[in-house]
Amino acid sequence: MVRENEIRAAEVAVDFPLQMDAGVIFIGRINTPWTSRLMCPRQGRLDGPVCTITLFEPWVRALDNITDFERLEVLYWLHLSRRDLVKQSPANDGTTRGTFALRSPVRPNPIGTAIVKLAGREGAILKVQGLNCLDNTPLLDLKPDRTLFKPIAPPQPGDYETNEARG
Ligand code: SAM
Repeated sequence: MVRENEIRAAEVAVDFPLQMDAGVIFIGRINTPWTSRLMCPRQGRLDGPVCTITLFEPWVRALDNITDFERLEVLYWLHLSRRDLVKQSPANDGTTRGTFALRSPVRPNPIGTAIVKLAGREGAILKVQGLNCLDNTPLLDLKPDRTLFKPIAPPQPGDYETNEARG
């Protein structure tokens, strides 16, 4: 069930820390057809509507070679989410689950991720399918989809030994 910012029965909120440990910058903007959380799909589909990701300067040159990849991983800031719930009731039925056992947008660092199909690039603008975020959601990062990468070399004996095992 989609929420705005309310706390539901049995949900648990904590005091949100006043001090931040790191800073992020918004490197671009995502435009989608969805202007309300009530309309926005819970997960994206690779055959979903074409959305755009616009990179801000000075980051546009960082798009060089991006069209080598058919799929990208998009990381974005779920800017309208509350951040203080540790137990949530997705079904709003009085039962709760821990925040880290959910893909809910409500989390201490409201980072959303999506694997998208790259449909094209025009300068600073990427056309993609597979998103499920609101119009004007801030962009945090773009990476090639990790499943498109092959290991550089096959694993070697000892690669996964721990420091303790090495003595
Ligand atoms: N695909 C991402 C993930 O798995 O990390 C987000 C999943 S979350 C279940 C998707 C929901 O977050 C949408 O259905 C919408 O209700 C909400 N949402 C989307 N964009 C948002 C934004 N910018 N701020 C707050 N909530 C947002």
